[in-house]
This record gives sequence, C-alpha cells and structure tokens, in this order.
Amino acid sequence: MRRQLASLLVISLLGCGTPTVTEDNHGYGWAYDAQGPSGLQVRYAASMAADRRPPIEWFEGIYIDVSACVGVTTTGPLLILVDDLIGSTVLQGRYLPDTRTAVVWTDTRALHNSTTQMRLPALKHEFVHHVLYAAGVPPEIHDTHAHLAFDACSGHVAWP
Ligand SMILES: [Zn+2]
Repeated sequence: MRRQLASLLVISLLGCGTPTVTEDNHGYGWAYDAQGPSGLQVRYAASMAADRRPPIEWFEGIYIDVSACVGVTTTGPLLILVDDLIGSTVLQGRYLPDTRTAVVWTDTRALHNSTTQMRLPALKHEFVHHVLYAAGVPPEIHDTHAHLAFDACSGHVAWP
C-alpha cells in the first residue's frame, strides 16, 4: 500500500499529458505495419518504398532462426526500421529492453554488411538482445556483449 501511494505520488508529480519514456516508447511510439505469428511486429521506415519493404514473413523467418540459434522462444519484439536513430549517429541498431523494442537503421549496410562498425548485422544482433533479455540474461552482459550468442547467432542476412 505504501509503495502504491508512492507510485501514485510519482505519477501525479509527472503531470498529466507528459508521457514517460516508456509510455511513448523512447520517442519511437508503438505503431506497426505488420505482425507475424511469433508476435513480431514490424514498422517500416517512411523512406522504404512499397517494393523495398521485405514482407513480415522475411523478418519472422530471421527472428525464428535467431531464437532457435540462441535456444530461447519468446514473443517477438516490436521492430522499428528507421532512417536515423534518435540520439545517435553511430549505432546501426539498438534494443530497448523495457519496451521490448528493437530499432534498426534502414541503411542496407546495417542489415547485411558484416564489416561495419559493430561488425555484426544489426537486425539479428538486436534480435539476440531481445531473446537474451527474455531468458533473464542481465543488462551488464548485454552492455559488453559478453555472450556467445552475439557471435554465434548474428550472421549474415541477405537483403531480399
Ligand atoms: Zn548490442
């Protein structure tokens, strides 16, 4: 009860109409264009023309492959493809564990070139974060990528 009262106080101090980071999903919002059987939701970037949008089945297949590789089955994340990452000019993707959201830059280098700054294809890499968090792997392991799955399960992805 005391904790509930404290929570209510914090909420009221934040004020009405001011979304928290989680409520607005770190500025990315919650909309999506397609959803696969795993629960994976995909939102395409506005810059992606209709004929340059891989179908949900393509993303679902990659997600299932990564899940199988890691050995963890869990509801798919919200995958948001963006033309640039909020607050970053160097990352190709990021995973937001509190909202189970993977954000991946649409630059094709981020999706299928393994010689980029992060060395691993961002799409599979962020999926690895997702399933490892679901398995209870702690944040410090994610911060340092000190888990074999990052190398073992983030292989080359061919753009369709
Ligand atoms: Zn990472």
